[in-house]
Amino acid sequence: AAKHAGGDDRHWFDAAMDRAADDDARLAAELRRAPAEGQLVALYQPIVTLPGGAPTGAEVLLRWQHPEHGLLAPDTFIPLAESNGFIVELGDWVLREAVRQSMEWRDRLGDRAPERISVNVSARQLSDPHFVDRVAGLLLESGLPPHRLMLEVTETAVLSAGAAIAQLHKLKALGLRIALDDFGTGHSSLSLLLDCPVDVLKVDKSFVSGTTAGRAGAIIVRNLIGFTQDFGIEAVAEGVETTGQAAQLYEAGYRFAQGYLFGRPMSAPALEELLTAPAEPGYRAVHAGAGRG
Ligand code: C2E
Ligand code: MG
Ligand code: MG
Ligand code: MG
Repeated sequence: AAKHAGGDDRHWFDAAMDRAADDDARLAAELRRAPAEGQLVALYQPIVTLPGGAPTGAEVLLRWQHPEHGLLAPDTFIPLAESNGFIVELGDWVLREAVRQSMEWRDRLGDRAPERISVNVSARQLSDPHFVDRVAGLLLESGLPPHRLMLEVTETAVLSAGAAIAQLHKLKALGLRIALDDFGTGHSSLSLLLDCPVDVLKVDKSFVSGTTAGRAGAIIVRNLIGFTQDFGIEAVAEGVETTGQAAQLYEAGYRFAQGYLFGRPMSAPALEELLTAPAEPGYRAVHAGAGRG
């Protein structure tokens, strides 16, 4: 009987796997059409200065407005796009949209526009031999000053993409800024920083508010800031959710932060409202929390 049941399970399992493969294939086909169908959405999350919490930049975070499944988060489709190579087209859409929005804000808002827009770049894009040329072309045709665009790459992407470090040097030579994202979660050593032309270290949210928060997180957060200061790199703390965390980060030496405390990923008009508002509640809360003028 046990053997028979096992046989049935096997059959059930294979059928489930087939269904999952069908679902993936359908989702992949839909994703391929998503840019043309106008289903991609760029959200913007503010990057702020401490202790005040004033927005200084924004990170573009991609969403997919799926006709049946609703607004999908990147973890439901980015891995799929990476595995079938379609991330290159998605990434181009994101870059183009970021540059367009950035120019629009620059023209319309003047010095209230975000100083810098950050775009996430995956390993597959970085190893695309035409990536640097496309970015250069985009900058040229839009007229966006290169230093207003920051590319975020993870340590894992840098280590897995062929010629990634050489590509980063070329991007850096164009005048772009480079950030190492989710820092501390990969398996690289700090020496990666010496090989990469890094301007900004984004300290992963697991050390600030997540799984490694608490004493261990606090130690890592404190040590990384010293390290960045010694190397002349800016540090951004990710995942700041409470005024207490913001105050501690400021105390430790952090001058830039990002997290739900200051703003969730939001539509471009919502970010614009935040940029042009005289003062918002998060500002005073953080200011008071940091106990400084
Ligand atoms: P990431 O680049 O590290 O982006 C930060 C993620 O942390 C975002 O998740 C953001 O919503 C979330 N986050 C920000 N503040 C907080 C906070 O205070 N608490 C918590 N718990 N989370 C916070 P999201 O938007 O789901 O994006 C997840 C990841 O997907 C990104 O991580 C990035 O690796 C990838 N991604 C997003 N957009 C793109 C894109 O256009 N291209 C590529 N290649 N990857 C993208
Ligand atoms: Mg990022
Ligand atoms: Mg990150
Ligand atoms: Mg991440």
